[in-house]
Amino acid sequence: MESKNWIGGEWITPQGEAIVVQNPSDTAQAVGQIRLSDQSHVRTAAEAAQAAFPQWAGLSGAARGEYLYSMAAVVAENSEELAKLASQEMGKPISEMRGEVTRGIHLLRYYAAEGMRANGSLIPSADRDVLQYTKRVPLGVVGVITPWNFPVAIPIWKIAPALICGNTVIWKPSEIGSLTATRLSELFAAAKLPPGVLNVVIGKGREIGSTLLEEVDLQAVSFTGSTATGRVVAESCARRNIKYQTEMGGKNAAVVLRDADLKRSIPIILSGAFRSAGQKCTATSRIIVERAIYPTFVELLQEAITSVKVGSALDPDAYLGPVASADQYEKVGGFAATARREAELVAECVTPETIKERGYYINPLVVTGLTPDHSLVQEEVFGPLAVVLPADDFAEAIELCNRSVYGLSASLFTQDLSRAFQFLEQAEAGMVRVNQETAGVEYQAPFGGMKQSSSHSREQGQAALDFYSEIKTCAIKHSF
Ligand code: NDP
Repeated sequence: MESKNWIGGEWITPQGEAIVVQNPSDTAQAVGQIRLSDQSHVRTAAEAAQAAFPQWAGLSGAARGEYLYSMAAVVAENSEELAKLASQEMGKPISEMRGEVTRGIHLLRYYAAEGMRANGSLIPSADRDVLQYTKRVPLGVVGVITPWNFPVAIPIWKIAPALICGNTVIWKPSEIGSLTATRLSELFAAAKLPPGVLNVVIGKGREIGSTLLEEVDLQAVSFTGSTATGRVVAESCARRNIKYQTEMGGKNAAVVLRDADLKRSIPIILSGAFRSAGQKCTATSRIIVERAIYPTFVELLQEAITSVKVGSALDPDAYLGPVASADQYEKVGGFAATARREAELVAECVTPETIKERGYYINPLVVTGLTPDHSLVQEEVFGPLAVVLPADDFAEAIELCNRSVYGLSASLFTQDLSRAFQFLEQAEAGMVRVNQETAGVEYQAPFGGMKQSSSHSREQGQAALDFYSEIKTCAIKHSF
């Protein structure tokens, strides 16, 4: 397979550098080839998105919704093939990737239905014979910049609400994930999405992404990725006074109190830490445990980790696969080496020798014995590495939980209802959960973080509609 741009309804293969995509589960296997775009492709995409805007914005919400329902249907018909391609391209186990594609289908249907829902409110006027109401209006051309860790769900949770609100879109997927993005676009094309409504440009973030940010007459940008790039996006948009949302890093804590049901909690904590090889912004990377249960917790964790299976992404029994790329392997490997040097080992899951040398596999690792300000406790690792921190009591556990520049997600394991409510109030995170993992938030609920994790707007659910539209206040004196 070869990546392609989808611009103005045309398929364009850029003639720039070709990059072979290696399967992270087995780097000797080529999954396909990416062809890098240049800045001219971004400019053409901008023209196409501008040209398509008036007609798309002029459709009724119901008509736009029908397109989204068709997109959902075509993705559903091709879901297995799409999931397999993504698994091979970025290493997410097929069992999880199937779930992600299903999530994408549900998101398309959810936002399709928004085309038929109320999009404003009636507000009383102080004057007589005046009808005053609000309505949502589209923004215009929207830029969508997505990462590789959810190559289907994240693009859809940005593109679907942008489209239902009447915007046209230029999508710059992550370079890792470009084949999946191409296939997803082909499915959207098969659903007869009109030309120019969605335009996809494959290429390097630094070149294509920055042309998109600096040169295109965008009215909004939605970004998910690293904190460093998120800041670049935010600065550029603030300079131009356009809307932006940046979903960035996390250092999410799972807090385990002395009364927690450990047998049920530990598998949930392991899932939060190691599913997707820890490459979720909501992954659990700090486990804060009340000292009273620390020895039992460690013992049960060591036992539970033996059931975790590291395998090739297409192995249906793999609990986690490799990390996504050579860059990830080097970066996460560096953190793992620091952990082995500077921390005490709590638990490790050993990757079978038969697959280890084939791809970018990193053993899931749990360590302890670090100060709360150690880099492994504070920096986003984005890999299968979790740090355990003991806490004397609930108050110290909360203090440790909040001792982070990030504030995306946090969870508490307890059977004490009043502690649970205290945690929900006091934890400094955009998503706070009890007896559930830090990852796995539902699409109909707002998604986003506090502190350095986000630009403080929210994605998904109804919140996305606020981002992708502007409110107009209308008033008409009808007896005049
Ligand atoms: P980046 O933030 O670099 O990439 C995210 C997206 O931004 C990609 O589409 C990328 O394109 C694009 N991009 C990169 N530079 C620019 C730029 N100057 N202007 C506009 N767009 C740009 O993340 P990485 O993929 O490099 O991952 C690095 C680290 O980021 C991970 O190890 C992890 O810590 C964190 N991360 C966090 C995520 C989250 O969900 N919070 C998701 C992904 C990563 P391209 O891929 O072509 O460079």
